[in-house]
Amino acid sequence: MEDLMNKEVWFVTGSQHLYGSETLEQVDKDSSTIVAGLNGSGKLPIKVVFKPVVKTPEEILDICVDANSEKNCIGIITWMHTFSPAKMWIAGLRALQKPYMHLHTQFNRDLPWSEIDMDYMNTHQSAHGGREYGFINARMRKNRKVVVGHWKDAKVQDQVAAWCRTAIGWDESKHLKVARFGDNMRNVAVTEGDKVEAQIKFGWEIHAYGVGDLVEYVEKVSDAEVDALYAEYEKLYAVADDCKPGQKYHENVRVQARYEIAMKRFMKDGGFGAFTTNFENLTGLAQLPGLASQRLMEAGYGFGAEGDWKQAALLRIIKVMSQGLKGGSSFMEDYTYHMNPANEGVLGSHMLEVCPTIAAKKPRLEVHPLGIGGKDAPARLVFESATGDAMNVTLIDMGNRFRIIVNTLDVIEPLAQLPKLPVASAFWKTHPNLADGAAAWIYAGGTHHSAFTLALTPDYIETFAELADVEFVIIDKETKVSEFKKELRWNDVYYLLNGSLKA
Ligand code: MN
Repeated sequence: MEDLMNKEVWFVTGSQHLYGSETLEQVDKDSSTIVAGLNGSGKLPIKVVFKPVVKTPEEILDICVDANSEKNCIGIITWMHTFSPAKMWIAGLRALQKPYMHLHTQFNRDLPWSEIDMDYMNTHQSAHGGREYGFINARMRKNRKVVVGHWKDAKVQDQVAAWCRTAIGWDESKHLKVARFGDNMRNVAVTEGDKVEAQIKFGWEIHAYGVGDLVEYVEKVSDAEVDALYAEYEKLYAVADDCKPGQKYHENVRVQARYEIAMKRFMKDGGFGAFTTNFENLTGLAQLPGLASQRLMEAGYGFGAEGDWKQAALLRIIKVMSQGLKGGSSFMEDYTYHMNPANEGVLGSHMLEVCPTIAAKKPRLEVHPLGIGGKDAPARLVFESATGDAMNVTLIDMGNRFRIIVNTLDVIEPLAQLPKLPVASAFWKTHPNLADGAAAWIYAGGTHHSAFTLALTPDYIETFAELADVEFVIIDKETKVSEFKKELRWNDVYYLLNGSLKA
């Protein structure tokens, strides 16, 4: 994936003129020290840029307007070193269109017990300055991230880093273009949705193409390009004997290599970060793009099958947020259950399209006939997922709003080998357990498709949902179905009122 970590966040400290120039110089100095400390922590994915302390409504408005117009700035961290009367923040916060967090920290970790006097008290007022600032944000119903703790604390730095990654994801969201090869699978409800509203809320441009547009690209791929890409497959994957040169299925693999090159070129030419396919819309293509879709996901593109543009966009954003972190992310589907009460679980998979970034071991490259669609046998990568803490994330259109649903999972080793399964898979335990987790997901209307990730925690998605100002619900170890149903009903009422509450 291209490097997306060359952006910056600004560090803005609030104060006022009441304290005199000496104190304000100290505030400026302390802020620069914190910025240097955050940058030096080695934890943040991007650079924090120090900005001089703001002391008046005009300075606050100016910095917010500057942040809006500076393309490289993807958000601001705000901190109240002293008291900063919060009416001063109203105009700035109304104007600000970038994500922001409230870092509720103070310069010194410990009270200087034997030294403390009123000068010290006047300079180090975060404890109450942050509350004044918190009030105006609450009163204006602003969605913002609040992080509390000393700035040298590793846990605090981790939270700042996570917020920076969410801001990077939000920046990507605002520029994301999704290419749909074909339309939605006929009669399927959950993959549909309001694309105009998605562009308003998330920034996504969602464009449909006839498969013929892609076929034109496929026809232009040269044999030499296919040769080179096949050689790469040989290096990266365990290629099945019947897929090797001169063997029965070798041409089927070459067809997917051709698709991969063509699709990548198409995406690059159009500036797309995510795409969908649909096995019902393949006129002019001999195979459903399997290996090709897997390889594009591996390269960082979002993907959704059967025209599912919502999960395609989500997956791209998750891949952007998690760039450089341990653990992969993939398009996923709750496919089939193991309902043995002694050890229940879900086998997640898809017809073909699971991303090899989640593979536990070197994937096998194989060709098998596809049961549906009536096309040639497609090449695909077959593997089992790495294990660990993971989650499924999905986005649905409720008619009057979007809802993002997260379900946390434990991905475990399959309970036995799957020698006849010709697709990649993941086996997981749903939280809080299969019955309650699946019931909650179904009450919430969650799709069979999701963006599955081993790299992120629910907190990233919650913050992302707040940036988009859409509904977020989580199903985790603490979920009780009866409470969860109430939350869904209350949210219905909240989203009728939401617009009228905001400043
Ligand atoms: Mn599907």
